[in-house]
Amino acid sequence: MGSLPPSGGNAPLGTIVVVGGSLAGLRAVETLRRLGFEGRIHLVGAERHLPYDRPPLSKQVLAGTWEPDRVWLKEEHALAGLEVETHLGRTATDLDLDERVVLLHGGTRLGFDGLLVATGATPRHLPDTADLDGVHVLRTLEDCLSLRRAFDDGPRVAVVGAGFIGSEVAATARMRGLEVTVLEALPVPLESGLGPVMGRVCGELHRDHGVDLRCDAGVAGFDGNGRVERVWLADGSTVDADVVVVGVGVTPNTSWLDSSGLTINNGLVCDERCATGAPGVYAAGDVARWHNPLFDEEMRVEHWTNASDQGVVAAQNLLAGPGSGEPYAPVPYFWSDQYDTKIQLVGHPRPGDEVRVVRGSVEDRRFVALYGHRGRLRAALAFSSPRPLMAYRRLISERASWDDALAHAASAG
Ligand SMILES: Cc1cc2nc3c(=O)[nH]c(=O)nc-3n(C[C@H](O)[C@H](O)[C@H](O)COP(=O)(O)OP(=O)(O)OC[C@H]3O[C@@H](n4cnc5c(N)ncnc54)[C@H](O)[C@@H]3O)c2cc1C
Repeated sequence: MGSLPPSGGNAPLGTIVVVGGSLAGLRAVETLRRLGFEGRIHLVGAERHLPYDRPPLSKQVLAGTWEPDRVWLKEEHALAGLEVETHLGRTATDLDLDERVVLLHGGTRLGFDGLLVATGATPRHLPDTADLDGVHVLRTLEDCLSLRRAFDDGPRVAVVGAGFIGSEVAATARMRGLEVTVLEALPVPLESGLGPVMGRVCGELHRDHGVDLRCDAGVAGFDGNGRVERVWLADGSTVDADVVVVGVGVTPNTSWLDSSGLTINNGLVCDERCATGAPGVYAAGDVARWHNPLFDEEMRVEHWTNASDQGVVAAQNLLAGPGSGEPYAPVPYFWSDQYDTKIQLVGHPRPGDEVRVVRGSVEDRRFVALYGHRGRLRAALAFSSPRPLMAYRRLISERASWDDALAHAASAG
């Protein structure tokens, strides 16, 4: 196989290493081949699995309505068709930018001309909590299957953190008929992401379905005799639980880059083309903090569509060469399925945004709400209203004003 000389008169890329064998990494590999890159590609993944999809892990697979074999993003033969050398179950431990080598656990050294970092993120654990059976996090297929087995015994479930993962776990557990308590440290769930008004609506959705949602509930620790039996709250009260799921956010997987000289700041820092400060080194997905020119802000986005889209753009830009390629300026998008409600958000809301419901009603749990800041439309949130939402994605990408967005809402009815 030959190599593809990148445009712009740069040296040809012979070997590209992609570290992170999940969504962003896979999309990058697919893109490299689609664009005609004929050199060697190494795909390194700490998990021993082929790339798989995480959203079903808190929904269908956890519910027991899907078997795990439905989560693969690419079958083995299809991955082999991309002529990629896979290193699955192998962790990258170090990056030497002078030698242009990625080191793997066990001593393997992979030289590269181009490198794409897509190592995602890992769930945070609560500090100073006892290490007891029955305490779970949810990120990997193994995490999911272990929690699913635990749910089979009909336990009382305590979920720590009412973010999106915690909320989906709570919803799935309730749909399985389990008794669920959600413990949220903030006064309102999802306040930092959706603001207090819409966060309250998300909280009510849980209460409607019989979840015991407790806000302002800081968790101080867990106890039990080998297995968790109760959660201690900061005010000294306790919640009895047979299973605890900790959903208190994630940390980007950058520790293997600590001595590389790359800039790490709550993620691997990149410019608007997803390029790090080192030549030929790009990043994508949950691990990447990049400058989004559409909002003129650095952001790190922990959602499926971003991992997929950024994997594509980072690979394109890697092939295009230094200073070339296109800026990555998406309107962030995510969805979350809870009970019978599909929650979707486009854009990038901030604390203090004006929030206005422009369609449907909050009481019916079917509505569209807009977020505006300094005369500009920044985001739109929909509960079970997917079609009307998408027009706002376009308006945000066109930098529509708040007034134009309200006028659109009025004319759309
Ligand atoms: C349970 C769950 C449900 C979700 N549901 C939704 C949803 O409904 N909607 C939505 O928009 N988003 C959802 N997401 C988020 C979405 O799945 C993530 O944004 C997406 O998986 C990020 O992809 P990624 O490739 O960037 O990182 P990851 O999926 O985290 O993959 C990174 C990979 O890199 C590997 N890795 C890490 N360090 C190393 C290393 N040093 N060497 C080699 N390999 C390494 C990891 O093991 C992992 O396999 C959900 C996430 C979870 C966990």
